[in-house]
Amino acid sequence: MDIYNGPGYGIARIRIEDSDSNYNYIIWCTETKECAVIDPIDPITILNFIRDNELMVKYVINTHCHPDHISGNDPILKVSLTMISKALIHPLGEELIGTRYDFVNEGDIINLGNLEIKVIHTPGHCPEHISLILDNNVFVGDTVFLGGCGNTKHRGAVEDLYSSVSRIRELPDECRIFVGHDYAEANLKFALDLEPNNTDAKNKLAEIEKAVSQNTEVPPSTVGEEKSYNPFMRYDISEIAEEAKKRVPDLTSSDPGAVFKAIRELRNEWTS
Ligand SMILES: [Zn+2]
Repeated sequence: MDIYNGPGYGIARIRIEDSDSNYNYIIWCTETKECAVIDPIDPITILNFIRDNELMVKYVINTHCHPDHISGNDPILKVSLTMISKALIHPLGEELIGTRYDFVNEGDIINLGNLEIKVIHTPGHCPEHISLILDNNVFVGDTVFLGGCGNTKHRGAVEDLYSSVSRIRELPDECRIFVGHDYAEANLKFALDLEPNNTDAKNKLAEIEKAVSQNTEVPPSTVGEEKSYNPFMRYDISEIAEEAKKRVPDLTSSDPGAVFKAIRELRNEWTS
């Protein structure tokens, strides 16, 4: 677990053992101690942290309703100290979730103590996907990963994913990206397969490999960093487009959306 503090808030990032390299997050207001849990899969670890830090759960927020992002909702809502606590999801996820939920939509502000968390709708990995912006941090679920992006295998649409990743790309360079899973090593190897001379990708992969060997964590990356090595944010770089055209015969133009789609197809089939 690692903690990131900002003005009036704290963020705990918890890497979940025995999962698909999932990250769970707790955001809290340092003054009121109200907290929100994002995408819980490991309620015991989360509830221990909440107890030890004397936090109160106001919301569970699900970036989307895939099972590994909602399975911890009910245990947390059942034992949380305030009976007003509930899950927040986008309306398109309604049929996929249990009880005690409210809807949040594009542009909504979630009030958590003194904090304001902005909701943006980022479909593509699945229709109900939302991302959350707090100060200079964005919680992107499975829209963007370090060095990669989400797949579209389970109710997804690659055109929407392109639009949503592009929206994240427009956030300020210094904005930190808190992702739903750690697939960084494989993603960066794929990035280097497409762009072998990308020094930023090489350096980031070296940093990741060192952390893996030492059993430590790398901090979240930033929008600026991702723009330098993540192929899904480099769809308008001519070297990427040309490489994608060589590998995907259907791709004949350098239209950014078409290049993005081709890179997504290549990533689906790629093995290191
Ligand atoms: Zn997912």
